[in-house]
Parts: sequence; structure tokens; C-alpha cells
Amino acid sequence: MDPFTGRIPREPEAAPYANWNDRITAECYAPLAEAGCFKQISFNLGGTLARWLDENAYATYARIVAAERDYRETNTVGNGLAQPVHHTILPLARRRDKICQVHWGIASFTHRFGHPPEGMWLPEMAVDYETLAVLAAEGIRFTILSDEQVHGALETGAGPYRVRLPGGGQIAIFVRDRHLSNALSFTMPDPADVDNWLREQVVWRCRRDGLVLIATDGETFGHHHRQGIEVLDRILSAGEAHGYGLATLGAYLQQNPPQAELEVIENTAWSCSHRLDRWVVGCACTPDDSRWKGALRRALDNLACDLDGIYVQEAQRLGADAWPLRDDYIAVVLGQVTGPAFLASYGLGHLSDEQTRRLLALLEAQFYRQRMYASCTFFFEDLDRHEPQYAIAHAVRALALTRYATGDDLSHSFRRDLQVARSQRTGRTAAGIFDEIIAQGAT
Ligand SMILES: [Zn+2]
Repeated sequence: MDPFTGRIPREPEAAPYANWNDRITAECYAPLAEAGCFKQISFNLGGTLARWLDENAYATYARIVAAERDYRETNTVGNGLAQPVHHTILPLARRRDKICQVHWGIASFTHRFGHPPEGMWLPEMAVDYETLAVLAAEGIRFTILSDEQVHGALETGAGPYRVRLPGGGQIAIFVRDRHLSNALSFTMPDPADVDNWLREQVVWRCRRDGLVLIATDGETFGHHHRQGIEVLDRILSAGEAHGYGLATLGAYLQQNPPQAELEVIENTAWSCSHRLDRWVVGCACTPDDSRWKGALRRALDNLACDLDGIYVQEAQRLGADAWPLRDDYIAVVLGQVTGPAFLASYGLGHLSDEQTRRLLALLEAQFYRQRMYASCTFFFEDLDRHEPQYAIAHAVRALALTRYATGDDLSHSFRRDLQVARSQRTGRTAAGIFDEIIAQGAT
């Protein structure tokens, strides 16, 4: 999404649709909603996509929200999961940023679905104990990991299992069946073969394990595999014929508290077996020279540190507790309250107009500073693509807001750091991308 217009630019590769969101909605979210799938399974809908659907595909959005609400009315516990709001790889973030992402994700979910979430989907299932401790402290009861991310006997299949947290406390973990999930995602059967597939792949696993969890990207159904909607529909309706039942995670946890414990293998993710290298220094999953990833991350980290310093100093000067204030600022982003009313609710109603303007601009800068770290910034092979460009554009937005608020210009040191990150494919540096964004902004 373009951080200056808040719109998605035309994406020719998504033809005949204007952009990928349009196309994936038509191929996947809309037919899944029409088929009633969101009434039967656990799912998560991220804040950014939820907002886009709300504004651009309202009928589908309304169907998904209503499906979750109906499910909760019938079962007392909902089937929607929240997710950290900007798809940040949380183990790579400082604790206060983990708290912010999780808090904002919960607030966004509650805003959309009308009740707090029971569970949270971690971006790329990237996990460390500090992330799990933050989830538990924010009231989340469970998350999902993949079987290669845990130590311990998977005696009850998908679980749930108890994970003990450092400093006390615990959280429940459901463990997805990697082989079955991948079989459905990458070698999906034809609709005519689904019953054979269920017999060969699923039914015996259910008998052996009790609960079996298939967890995969929603886009698998209808977008990656055209037959996916029909296949999922058959899987959801064939339980009686094959002797299995459907369960959603929150409701299952309510009936089946964890009996056994697992340990978590920290700094792992579901999408790549190279720990978190993919988002830090690059790994063998992508071709070519990935050194730009470390260089870009250093530039963003240095900038984040500078932005935080200015924000904290200003907040303290005005008598505000900087991090809780930032955590709750999501209410302004969601349009639940105006900026000045939000500050007044924090005991800051006495600030002058000028002080209010300054603090709100710095809070908005923190929002864009959070967005720089979306997983996809670092996920792909090359620097000279949309995703890293968006991260730098978010940084530019945070720089501009900070300059507007306090007069501090952080752009020179940021640009110097960006010079180190270079695309092997086009030769362009991140500083070149930065200059282009500035030039576009000036026209
Ligand atoms: Zn990898």
C-alpha cells in the first residue's frame, strides 16, 4: 500500500484485476465467504487486509465478520484469530515493539469483530519465548506453531500443549501437521479425488492423533489452486462419511485444556528452515546476493532508534508515559477517537495546541516506523522491488512527520546508511530508492 495515498497502486501483473487484493478477493475471499467456510474453521484476518476489504469489498467483509459473530453466539467462543498488526517478525523486535504490535493487533481485531480474540497467529509463525510471554500478558490464550518448531512428544497430535514461560505463566500451543498442511498447499487433489485423499492422508492421522491441524495460507484456496474452494468445501462436509469431526481451536481449547508440555525452538519460522536468516542476512531460499537485507535492516534500526529517542524525549517533557501512550494510540488509527480527545483521556488535555500537534505527529511517525518492519520487506530476493520500497517510503513518512513536529532532520544519516544496501539485479542502492521517493513527493 502506498504510504502517501493509502491506496494500492495499479498492479499490471494482477490483470484482469486492478491489483492483487482485487484479484485474490475475487478468487479466494469472496467465494470462501459465500461457501460459508468462515463459519466452520479457525481463521485470521489481518488488520491491513480487513481494512482493505471493509473499504473495497464490503459484502465479503461483512460476511466474514457475521460468520465469526454467529459462530461465537452458538459456541460461546469465537473462531477468529488476531494477528500482530503489521506482520512483523516478532523475535527480531525489541520487547516494547512486540508489545505494541500485539496490542495493536488485539485492538484491531476487537474493533472489527466486537470481542477480544482468544488466539493470535504469529507472522510466519516466527517465535521466541519473549513473544509468547507478551502474548500471554496481553490476554492471548493460544497460538499455532509448526511441528519442526517444538521439542517434546506430540502425544495428542495437534494438542493443545502447555508452554511454560520465563518468569512464570503459560500459554497453549496448537501444533500444525506440517506434512498434511504442505500436502494440501502444494499438491492439492482434484475435487474428484478428495475422498481418496482424505482416506489416504487424513482419516488414519485423526484416528492416531485425536486432533489433526491443517494450517495454511487462505490464498491456497481459489488463488494458488483454482479448485481449492471446492476441495475445502468437500473436506468440511465429508466428516460424517469418513468418521471425523471439525473443531475450531478456541472452542477445542475450552473443552480440552493442555495435558502435556512442549518446549519451543526459538528464532524459528514456518516458512523457511534457516531459522530467521531470511529476514536478517538472507538464506538459501532466495537466489542471488542477499547482503542488502542486513544493510537495510541496519538503516531501519538506526532510524528507529533516532525516532524513538526524539519521541520519548518529547513525551517525557510533556509528562506522558511514552510506550503505553503509543500502545493505546491505535484507537486514533482505528478512528475510535480523535487525536486531541485521545490525549485528553491520558490526562494531557492541558497541552497547548502546538504541543498537541507535535505529540500527535510524533505518534503518527511511530505508526509508520512500525510499518517499516513488515515481514515482506525482507522476505524476497531483491532490494529493488515494491516491498523494500514501501518500507523506505514508510520511513520517509516518519522522517517528514518528525521534522514537522520538532524540526529534527534525520534524513542525512538515514540516507547514508541506505547507501550500503545495493540491489545485485539492478545496481540501485536503497539511497537511490529513497531519492526517488523524495523526488516523487516533491512533484
Ligand atoms: Zn530459508
